[in-house]
Amino acid sequence: MRILLIEDDRMVGAAVEQALKDAAYAVDWVTDGETAILAAESEAYELALLDLGLPKQDGRAVLRRLRACGRRLPVIIVTARDGVDDRIDGLDLGADDYLVKPFEIRELLARMRAVLRREGSGSPSLLTNGALKLDPATREASFLDQSALLTAREFALMQALLMRPGTILSRSELERQVYGWNEEVESNAVEFLIHGLRKKLGSGAIRNVRGIGWMVDRPS
Ligand code: CA
Repeated sequence: MRILLIEDDRMVGAAVEQALKDAAYAVDWVTDGETAILAAESEAYELALLDLGLPKQDGRAVLRRLRACGRRLPVIIVTARDGVDDRIDGLDLGADDYLVKPFEIRELLARMRAVLRREGSGSPSLLTNGALKLDPATREASFLDQSALLTAREFALMQALLMRPGTILSRSELERQVYGWNEEVESNAVEFLIHGLRKKLGSGAIRNVRGIGWMVDRPS
């Protein structure tokens, strides 16, 4: 699942970026409003985290622009502006939630899960597909009688497949869901993750469609 992090404070940005990666999200981090708009227009993100005080275009302008272009992108404002007027203003501009700094990462992650759940695109409390089950809170997966704890990247890949059962996902689509844009991706990284998942869950958990990609079957 791919997240756009819009934050000009280096320390806050780096901490949030790392926490999101640890929680199995692919993160693209931008530090000004103009770049944020360009990124949101060129990549289909599942969620954006938006600071309000930003260089070039401030967060309110970014949000107004995102809402004007019509594409549905859930936005959580994350800002030090804690006035009631600021919060009302942000929500009225179309933000889905509002979190005031300083905050605990755990709360940010819980709010992200809640927004994604409401959106329907995101993680319900338990993802299931026939015999395959995935718990986003614990990263535990099971298939038939095998269960295992997944790494952050294995989880991200498994989640991408589970959210679109019956659909073949290509290597580049899976890379998009697992890696942020400034991360080095080894050419066989996806194969390596698939290999690890099959080892943990059994080879029937993920189907290889030769030359095209991978899928999980729709439950029959
Ligand atoms: Ca700021």
